[in-house]
Amino acid sequence: MSPKISEFAQSTGGSTVVAMRRAADALEAKGMKIVDFGVGEPDFDVPPPVSEAAIQAIQQGHGKYVDPAGLPELRAAIVDYERTRHGIKVDSSAIVVTNGSYGALSTIMRAVLDPGDEVIVIEPFWGPYRQMVKLSGGVPVAAAMPTVEGRFIVEADRIAAAVTPKTRAIIVNTPWNPTGRVLYRDELVGIADVAEKHDLWIIADEVYSELVYEGSEHISISSVSPDAASRTVIATSLSKSFAMTGWRLGYCIAPEALAPVLTKINHITTRCAASIIQYAAVAAFEHGLPFVEEMRNEYMERRNAVARGLNQIEGVICPLPEGTFYALAQIPGAWGGSKAVADKLLNESGVILTPGSAYGASCDHYLRLSFATSLEIIEEGINRLRRALPLS
Ligand code: PLP
Repeated sequence: MSPKISEFAQSTGGSTVVAMRRAADALEAKGMKIVDFGVGEPDFDVPPPVSEAAIQAIQQGHGKYVDPAGLPELRAAIVDYERTRHGIKVDSSAIVVTNGSYGALSTIMRAVLDPGDEVIVIEPFWGPYRQMVKLSGGVPVAAAMPTVEGRFIVEADRIAAAVTPKTRAIIVNTPWNPTGRVLYRDELVGIADVAEKHDLWIIADEVYSELVYEGSEHISISSVSPDAASRTVIATSLSKSFAMTGWRLGYCIAPEALAPVLTKINHITTRCAASIIQYAAVAAFEHGLPFVEEMRNEYMERRNAVARGLNQIEGVICPLPEGTFYALAQIPGAWGGSKAVADKLLNESGVILTPGSAYGASCDHYLRLSFATSLEIIEEGINRLRRALPLS
């Protein structure tokens, strides 16, 4: 006999990216050299002024609890950054600092959902959204999107078709993992119209907002209309933009009525995000943007190399990613399901790619490639794929 573990906890699946990496570790232990195109975090170092600020915060004894909404200096720095970078005009009372955007998203779900409420998740989706909705007592409802020449687009009608009387929110991720898309204004307006018509929250995951390449522009859905601003709560972080994944620093930008609720939940669940990291994050906003620019330029070169290389492989269609550090390549149905193809490429060629099935059933004839790795590794990986593909 042992006490019962929650059924929900037992029903949650693990991460496909982690599972692929574990399988690769086993091959590596046998001597195979692995090219990892699975990893979802920057390979760059954190900008030096950020590390220096963290060390200084420790030396100055700043390791105490801070306001559960976040350090006032940091919230002020976020307000300035969001206004100048994204045209979002809010004051500090709208900002709630969290443990990464995982923390922001989970806090938001808990703040807006009651048991049985439905949340529309645009497919292809980042896997944890559905688990977070369930953990908050809600029900995730996937709305699969169509493609044009291998490129996923958002069609508002498909979101509208998924709305029921129980729908409470829509999750919108732009720049969009795993597709590499940066949503256009008309796509965002379409989503905002559905939200307005059915009085829904818009949960906007903007964690890749700094990773947008020439010719594309990150538009926050909160900026498309005053109504959208009043129903959008943004979740974002410094993880991808400032290469600070392990530092766990994110934040919500919420409408007036919601921010105090988020603060309350943040307090109950975490007390506050780590104080030392909050001091360091002030330095990221004040001195880190030139480093972000350098990283973006490097990602853009990698993106070009990846798209060029993949499109030279017979059968593969890889639309040029507009943002993020992911390319989502379409593969012929005749090659088999994405998991089987990814397993074969790992076992026989030592290349980790994430199967599209991890992002929803409609994505099964796709493979996601992360270019958060050096140009040299990209060249080696693409050469291996060229030798292994097409599959017969
Ligand atoms: N949202 C998306 C779409 C992501 O891809 C990730 C990480 O991979 C996150 C949120 C979470 O990032 P973090 O909690 O490090 O901010």
